[in-house]
Amino acid sequence: MNKIFFLGECMVELRAIDDDTMKQSFAGDVYNSAVYLQRCFPTVTTGMVTALGRDALSEKMIQRFRKASLDTTFVFQHPEKVPGLYLIKTDALGERSFTYWRNDSAARQLMGFFNDDIADLFNAGEYLFISGISLAVIAPSDRDAFWRFLDKLKSRGVNIVFDPNYRARLWDSPEQAKLAFEQAFTLADIALPGVEDLEVLFNISDAEAVIDFCTPFKLQEIVVKNGPDSVLTYANNSLLKHPIRPVSNVIDTTSAGDAFNGVYLGARIEKRSIVDAVQLAACAAGTVIQHPGAIAPEEPFRTAMTAVGI
Ligand code: ADP
Repeated sequence: MNKIFFLGECMVELRAIDDDTMKQSFAGDVYNSAVYLQRCFPTVTTGMVTALGRDALSEKMIQRFRKASLDTTFVFQHPEKVPGLYLIKTDALGERSFTYWRNDSAARQLMGFFNDDIADLFNAGEYLFISGISLAVIAPSDRDAFWRFLDKLKSRGVNIVFDPNYRARLWDSPEQAKLAFEQAFTLADIALPGVEDLEVLFNISDAEAVIDFCTPFKLQEIVVKNGPDSVLTYANNSLLKHPIRPVSNVIDTTSAGDAFNGVYLGARIEKRSIVDAVQLAACAAGTVIQHPGAIAPEEPFRTAMTAVGI
């Protein structure tokens, strides 16, 4: 079944162009991954699972999802809440800073839209992706219900995919994040951690140690990202090291990991080998970091992917 859903939050992005002008777009880790997956593998049905509002920007975001050919079956609209928003400012030295307004976003209410019937709409062989950011935005009081929902999906044969994507400011404490991540690793079939994500929380500082940390969790596939350093994978008792060609003109590393995840998963769903999937994902991520913002323009992205046979 060629179907994957990305659960989490997509936000309104404002980028200051000058003192009086902002450029508005949409971004968020799960949305970025979904967009890149769909660009490379249009035959894989790719959907969002999120909550927005009924305001003008929410409507525009839904239109954007549809324009990116994303399935919106599980995009819910809260009657009062609105989407999260963030502002990117770049100073004279090119240093970026981010300001967020997301503490009361519609996405935090996602579990309120999940009744027992929702899990029944997922089928065996489909994929559900969650990240550490998805977990953090689910209200702590809803997390038990969220784990029960994932349990139900798992028992229906849905493959759970997890990328820890740790953002300290979204958690009340590191301990809370650790517990949630351990629970997610326990439920997941595929994990795509970055070395940096586990460094702070679990005191792990190299890719091999991330594999050692992950192996007791009974994952089918572990893919460890490490910036420009080799990607390590572990599946079917086989540890593979995949060299990455470092990009020399890095413009903005935002969403490198998201692009990697989307394209890797699309390739695996399309039954490509792990070696091929990593190479395609690395090409996508290496292209994205040569453009500003989370979503690289379509044309140069497609050109780069065409060059590697997509
Ligand atoms: P995240 O965005 O989650 O921090 P990483 O920084 O680990 O993710 O990068 C994800 C992937 O992006 C890497 O596995 C690699 O394929 C690619 N990548 C990141 N930085 C570079 C770089 N400087 N040169 C080439 N590829 C890179």
